Amino acid sequence: MVRNIAILGSTGSIGANALRVIEALGDEFRIVALSARSSVELLAKQVRRFRPSHVAIANPDKVRSFKALIGEQPCEIIAGPDSLEEIASLDDVDTVLTAVVGAAGLPAVLRAAEMGKTLAIANKEPLVIAGQLLTTTAAEHNATILPVDSEHSAIFQAMHAGQSEDVKRIILTGSGGPFRTARPADLHHVTLEQALNHPTWDMGPKITIDSATMMNKALEVIEAVWLFGVPAERIDVLIHPESIIHSMVEFVDGSILAQMGTPDMTVPIQYALTYPRRCKGLAKPLHLEKLGCLTFETPNLDVFRSLKLVYHVACQGGSAPVVFNAANEVAVELFLSGQIKFHQIIELIEECLGIHNQTTCLTLDELLQVDAWTRRTVKETLKVSHATQDSAEKV
Ligand code: MG
Repeated sequence: MVRNIAILGSTGSIGANALRVIEALGDEFRIVALSARSSVELLAKQVRRFRPSHVAIANPDKVRSFKALIGEQPCEIIAGPDSLEEIASLDDVDTVLTAVVGAAGLPAVLRAAEMGKTLAIANKEPLVIAGQLLTTTAAEHNATILPVDSEHSAIFQAMHAGQSEDVKRIILTGSGGPFRTARPADLHHVTLEQALNHPTWDMGPKITIDSATMMNKALEVIEAVWLFGVPAERIDVLIHPESIIHSMVEFVDGSILAQMGTPDMTVPIQYALTYPRRCKGLAKPLHLEKLGCLTFETPNLDVFRSLKLVYHVACQGGSAPVVFNAANEVAVELFLSGQIKFHQIIELIEECLGIHNQTTCLTLDELLQVDAWTRRTVKETLKVSHATQDSAEKV
């Protein structure tokens, strides 16, 4: 049976890898729709190669140059912020691969869940921000959620070795990023270049910074809570610098199941697309004898404060994860554009969570309101701290 796929965010790192996977898998997989925010040159190349019937361009200003790039290629263009929702809900799309960074893809993911489609979720936000809403909606409409995040794909695969009630704990592994061996004081002198220099994974800038703060692992704890129905206190984070074991599940009998492989996103992407089958893939084979050993260590919670904070956030639930995620998103943007220092990322998140009034979020609108409040608040908090600094300097 042919699988008809829409990729939300096809020009990012996950999207481009997904297209490589689909190209290698052959005719069984058909690209129905692709989307980009602004990278229309790459999008046009992808459209010429994969011939989707629909294309979504979130930034309407880019439509004209996109049209010029594709020329006579027949394809319906949908523009604007709602365009993702439109392609995700097309009748002939059965699988939606979502790889849009941030909250932008959320309405589209929920819409696809309401229509009972298969959701291959690569970015963390749908489950972190709207975990409850999304999993309930998916269950009501028989939509399947498949993880693409490498750790969750590993957990998902390991889970097949037992019953969910027999899971003792989940062990989320992470490389520890470039500051694995740093001391708390070192974080005050981190440069953008150092933070972007990830030892094992090649990813987009936002996710690379999230690896440096280990905020990605913190968000993955919340993601795992919703994907596997395991409470946060039974999800442990373990540093594994070689990034060969992608995560593990410990069962009540003491058995620990691990999924291993070379660190290559094409593996989890492909497994989500071919599940429950396995097909020949693109990743290089793993030669354990060349590695010699695999190492593990507990994360330093004074360096990676996000890993301490996430258990409070997960326990609070409701709007707290929304604030946690959005504050991080804005703080990382501010860091990438040189407006704040590396150590201020976690400080802004902590401050924002501190002033936020906890609410129990249920609807998409309420979630998006909290998201918008957080984005404003981070910027205001920063302005206030700059003003205080300025006046202090004058004195
Ligand atoms: Mg991951």
